[in-house]
Amino acid sequence: MSTDFRALAVSGVQSLAPYVPGKPIAELERELGIANIVKLASNENPLGPSPRALAAVERVLRDTTLYPDGSGFSLKKKIGEYFHVDPARLTLGNGSNDLLDMVARVFLGPGRRSVFSQYAFAVYSISTQAVGADCVAVPARGFGHDLEAMASAAQNASVVWLANPNNPTGTWFDRAAFEKFMAAVPEKVVTVLDEAYSEYVDDERYPNGLDYVARYPNLIVTRTFSKAWGLAALRVGYGVSSPQIADLLNRVRQPFNVSTPALAAAEAVLDDADYLARSVQTNREGLRQVTQGLAGLGLGVIPSIGNFVTFDCARPAQAVFDALLREGVIVRPLAGYGMPRHLRVSIGTREQNARFLSALQKVLS
Ligand SMILES: *Cc1c(COP(=O)(O)O)cnc(C)c1O
Repeated sequence: MSTDFRALAVSGVQSLAPYVPGKPIAELERELGIANIVKLASNENPLGPSPRALAAVERVLRDTTLYPDGSGFSLKKKIGEYFHVDPARLTLGNGSNDLLDMVARVFLGPGRRSVFSQYAFAVYSISTQAVGADCVAVPARGFGHDLEAMASAAQNASVVWLANPNNPTGTWFDRAAFEKFMAAVPEKVVTVLDEAYSEYVDDERYPNGLDYVARYPNLIVTRTFSKAWGLAALRVGYGVSSPQIADLLNRVRQPFNVSTPALAAAEAVLDDADYLARSVQTNREGLRQVTQGLAGLGLGVIPSIGNFVTFDCARPAQAVFDALLREGVIVRPLAGYGMPRHLRVSIGTREQNARFLSALQKVLS
């Protein structure tokens, strides 16, 4: 082969490091030939799917020959009623990741820049670079967003990405900090408030992004059905913004970006209040169990309000990660985030959490 296709790629893609997902269970099974693996690597819901969502998927499988409803009319109507938002403000995505890409395609490009925090979710830089724009990573304060420094950096940016709480650190900011940030950022700077884990948060100081979309026309709130709603495999998320921004996002959205089973399952799970309550309760108990367990092992824990915890192994984390794999426990290494001594563990069921903690104790001793 004589053509160097890498040299032909647009420059942002040439320098792009692909997203590294959590290791799949089947892959570890293949590699080590072990069974009974616990995966706590991708912040997935440990409860299994809502029975209502499953039934809805089964009902629509016979429609597989037909394209999905490209407008997502029925799900948008449902989300609108559930959260009291005008469907004209909604954009559906193939996961909320899809929304992040749409934002980049609409508001970023060569000669433009986006701002995010050090240790912020990896997709912000990937979506930015893929469209040839420049990334500005603002040094974190502690492990969280330094919103004042980010507001300064945002003055001549096109997009700012905020994750609240942030993945992989679990850190968050309150209403007062968010309002101060929005007041300091020019309205021409589009601000994405990524609330992938908002359902888990129970603190009155937490800013619910949906309360702010009418007030800030430059705000795009993104949410997902992948985490607390337990539909990660189906890929469905949504953005809430001004109708004008929703119209722009819709111009670059792939015509049938959300599948029929995903639309049906998301609509059905919104009726399953019990499922959401169980997700949140399981997480609340598990977060306490894992945080206390890690502290009991003498490890530094970054306080989290998500469905995961990041902790300091006090040694290079890769060896700990590898040893945990041999115990059949998959967690997430964070060297790619510039955190080579940390690991992130998702909150599982009580049994999974206990299995993780005892494997970790064994590995560290
Ligand atoms: C998991 C996650 C998402 C959402 O992923 P989708 O499955 O694409 O909806 C978005 N942002 C953050 C910070 C996440 O951790």
